[in-house]
Amino acid sequence: METLNKHTTQQPSKNDLLILGSGPAGLTAGIYAGRAGLNTKIIAGRERGGQLTGSSKVENFPGFPDGINGLELMDRTIKQAELSGADIIYQDATSVDLTSTPKWIQTENGDKYEAEQILIATGSTPKRLGIKGEQKFWGRGVSTCATCDGPLYKDKDVVVVGGGNNAFHEALHLARMGAKVKLVHRREEFKADETLQEELFSHPNIEILTNSELSSIQGEETVKSVSILAKDQEDEKQIKTDGVFIAIGTVPNTDLFSNQLELDEAGHILTDQNLKTSTDKVYAAGDARDSRYKQAITAAAEGAMAVMNLK
Ligand SMILES: Cc1cc2nc3c(=O)[nH]c(=O)nc-3n(C[C@H](O)[C@H](O)[C@H](O)COP(=O)(O)OP(=O)(O)OC[C@H]3O[C@@H](n4cnc5c(N)ncnc54)[C@H](O)[C@@H]3O)c2cc1C
Repeated sequence: METLNKHTTQQPSKNDLLILGSGPAGLTAGIYAGRAGLNTKIIAGRERGGQLTGSSKVENFPGFPDGINGLELMDRTIKQAELSGADIIYQDATSVDLTSTPKWIQTENGDKYEAEQILIATGSTPKRLGIKGEQKFWGRGVSTCATCDGPLYKDKDVVVVGGGNNAFHEALHLARMGAKVKLVHRREEFKADETLQEELFSHPNIEILTNSELSSIQGEETVKSVSILAKDQEDEKQIKTDGVFIAIGTVPNTDLFSNQLELDEAGHILTDQNLKTSTDKVYAAGDARDSRYKQAITAAAEGAMAVMNLK
């Protein structure tokens, strides 16, 4: 357990509830907690608004039939949380003690916050390929969510990267929507379930490139092509594509809690059905605990549920 920063001079701020994270889970929790009259602080973290801010168009969030820019959706949600009474601090939490009474969190500038209850909604980070062009076209042709961005690629060419269940789901989802899919996997064998493999291998819209890796992504305003290097070839091959879906997994942002909470092998926080963690009065919601759905609406729902379950 980390100790408090020696230079802290301010008295700790005392709260009923501290929420870590300002994605859909944390902010929705803030709305519910504020409206329930709880003295609530949201430690927002550096990624103000969470992962959705990286999406140019969110088309599956209820209430926006024409879609909405992810940043705008989260700006609106931040405003709603503030109007509901939550106080938002734009700092990362760098130390926590979830077992003391009261529990405390210290942020990167040394400020300390105490509360009776804590809700962890620190989300997850999609794994990246780390290749040229990936960052440049992130949200402009490079995506990690076919459920979210798939409709933009009807009748277009897309490349899906990965070989597990997630990649297969993404490829099938895109193909069913009419996209022409190339699944690129760096190995010969796939980790995806047998039934998924059968369905994918027999889909007329999906071509498979094994033993191959993407080496760069090119484009202008949006993605236009990718370079692929096959293991048995010396020269790269350039393939025209309108989109690249990276499905090589996500990493839950839970390192900070690993010695204080029970986590699964991949690092997701384990909770019971009331979203309570292994530590008393500590709850978790959204991608930090969810290994399956990983959607804005499910994260938001869990934020609401966690607050309604507080004791
Ligand atoms: C590019 C992209 C597009 C997507 N599009 C869609 C879509 O169209 N529809 C859809 O339903 N889903 C979409 N998703 C998935 C969706 O964004 C996530 O499922 C959802 O944001 C998860 O919400 P969350 O609140 O659990 O966490 P996140 O959104 O991951 O937010 C985590 C928050 O925790 C904070 N945090 C992290 N560490 C700390 C710390 N140490 N201290 C304090 N705060 C911390 C971060 O700053 C951030 O505010 C998309 C994801 C990506 C990457």
